[in-house]
Amino acid sequence: MSENELFTSLEKILKEQNTPDEDIKEIYEAFKFADELHKGQYRVSEEPYIIHPVEVAKILATLRVDKHTLMAAMLHDTIEDTGITPEVIQEKFGEDVLNLVLGITKLDKLQFKSKEERQAENFRRLFIAMAKDVRVIFLKLADRLHNMRTLNYMTPQKQQRIARETLDIFAPLANRLGIGKIKAELEDLSLRYLEPEKYFEIAQLVAQKKAERDLTVQLLIDKISSILNTNNINAEITGRAKHYYSIYKKMQKLNVQFHDLYDITAVRIIVEDEKECYEVLGIIHSQFKPIPGRFKDYIAMPKGNGYKSLHTSVLGPKQKPLEVQIRTREMHQVAEYGIAAHWKYKESGSVKVDSDADVKFTWLRKMLEIDRDSSDASEFFENVKLDVFGNQVFAFTPMGDVIDLPLNATPIDFAFRIHTDVGYRTTGALINGRIAQLDTKLKNGDIVELFTSKTGTPKLHWLNFCVTKQAQTKIRQWFKKHKKEEYTAVGRSMLEQEIGKTAFDEHVKSGEILRVAKMLNYQTLDDLFAGLGSGETTVGKITSKIKKPEPASPKLTEHKEATKSNEIIGLEGMMYSFAKCCTPLPGEPIVGVVTRGKGITVHRVDCNSLDEVPEERLMELSWRDSASTNRTYVTSIKITANDKIGVLKDILVKASDCDTSITYANVKTIPAKKIGIIELGVEVNSIDKLRTVITALQSLPDVNSVKRIPMNSKTKRAPESAPKSKKKKK
Ligand code: MN
Repeated sequence: MSENELFTSLEKILKEQNTPDEDIKEIYEAFKFADELHKGQYRVSEEPYIIHPVEVAKILATLRVDKHTLMAAMLHDTIEDTGITPEVIQEKFGEDVLNLVLGITKLDKLQFKSKEERQAENFRRLFIAMAKDVRVIFLKLADRLHNMRTLNYMTPQKQQRIARETLDIFAPLANRLGIGKIKAELEDLSLRYLEPEKYFEIAQLVAQKKAERDLTVQLLIDKISSILNTNNINAEITGRAKHYYSIYKKMQKLNVQFHDLYDITAVRIIVEDEKECYEVLGIIHSQFKPIPGRFKDYIAMPKGNGYKSLHTSVLGPKQKPLEVQIRTREMHQVAEYGIAAHWKYKESGSVKVDSDADVKFTWLRKMLEIDRDSSDASEFFENVKLDVFGNQVFAFTPMGDVIDLPLNATPIDFAFRIHTDVGYRTTGALINGRIAQLDTKLKNGDIVELFTSKTGTPKLHWLNFCVTKQAQTKIRQWFKKHKKEEYTAVGRSMLEQEIGKTAFDEHVKSGEILRVAKMLNYQTLDDLFAGLGSGETTVGKITSKIKKPEPASPKLTEHKEATKSNEIIGLEGMMYSFAKCCTPLPGEPIVGVVTRGKGITVHRVDCNSLDEVPEERLMELSWRDSASTNRTYVTSIKITANDKIGVLKDILVKASDCDTSITYANVKTIPAKKIGIIELGVEVNSIDKLRTVITALQSLPDVNSVKRIPMNSKTKRAPESAPKSKKKKK
């Protein structure tokens, strides 16, 4: 077959569907382009490569997809196999076609490994989520179908792997989309490679019984036709063997031999409207003995993929059981070609349109909602983006298991999904082989490898970024169990702070707080305080339940810098201050040092001064997510620069370019070394901001080094005096 004859075979299908000539011309352009690119390439079957894309396009044409999908079918292997750049495709065929080609190229890289059914389901969902556009799934299914049709050229190992993947992933996917025709062919082809003996046995037996069956079916068809005629019902009746895989499944399920399996034949009756479906059912049941328990009304209760039909089994001529399916022409279109055919069919206008309420799709419902107003298939294909799983992410374990997570999930959420103990012991993560922060948001298809340590424990600041309830609850539970004493102390002082020491003591004495504790499902006062300290409950929830609100003046403390703020998780409503030795900034890991009566001092976890603090006085803390936007913090930096005129000005200009305020500047020169040392107080809202400032300053040609230093209160108040550290240098 010459290349042009090849295209003619597709053109014929398109013409039959009344595809406009301009569209056919555009599809031809894509064909010509792909044909050029694939010149000299051959499939394993030794046929010219271009046959594959054309066959894929032909399969898609029967599904009545839009022209862009057909163009993408022509081009679908060009990026991978011919090295053409995406830019060229975009320029020649537009962005939509390019996106489809990129979409299928991306999906081609996914390989399914696990054998578990649950995993297969997740993998199908990952597929859909990654496809983003339903047309990409159609493309992939058509591509797979043609590859399955030509699978005999592959090595036995490849045949096994591809057939297994097809049966586990692609046939169910076709079923989900309601494309019964593709689903059946994929299943039969898979069976041929996975269970060749069974497959050929069934095929042979089906063929042997054909004459006998045809006779039975013909008798039935004749009989039904004449009855329907006298009832003035115009119907199309066909009868044929069910597809091999469904016979195979039935033999497995009923644990019987082929010979004991009678109803391998299905008779299909297609009528004009729904009313007639039930009329025909009534007629059939009055003429043939129905087999009890076999009637199914998929019109009243459509399947999840939109499939509608009436099914029944009767004892037909010669008392042989036969399955009968009754449906309208439109129902038939949907059953064979899926939801897109539905639109195409509506378009022709020969049938009244179902109301949306009738369409009982589960996950497809969303697709339909998006498209409620559009009335034709190509518009349907243009508009339908697969946001069915838009609020989910699918990530892989190194073993190839797919874990489904909510959007914005992190390696910590992933870890807790694997196992609670894995979550507790996680110390780090690799994403796609690279070291990643534990708060990294996972993307579809990410492979996540976790590091755990036997002695690892959960961190309170994980609560800042983990998004699954499971992880949050487990982390809280752990802290409640292991740090109860601390939390009790923290919770107690929080409440004391809020209602005042006097009132607090009174309420404890009178039993009022215990009463409130029980209302909130805590058994003891300590449980309540621990709950409060761990963030399980809030001060507000407690105080709102305390009766006779006595006006008690809040306790004042001598601690001047203490703030009542929400910037740190674990310190809600408590007195605390930031340590001057390390001036922690939002984004930096922090820890609290509990000083009885004096509140809590917040340090960076790497602060040297913590070496002397006993473990039991340390409190795990973390910044709230919003902390970086709420306020600014002053930090000191030390800059060593060449002693040149204008350097200080350059530094100040650069700093203000970064949108930071300078709270003080202290300059000292060392003439012997021709350098200047500048200490700046900068106001920043996070560690990231500070890093930006430091990087910006380091980029100045005359700046030699920029360092963060402890805050020196003396410096701050008396900028004229040199900082202590410099005295040594003299
Ligand atoms: Mn392909």
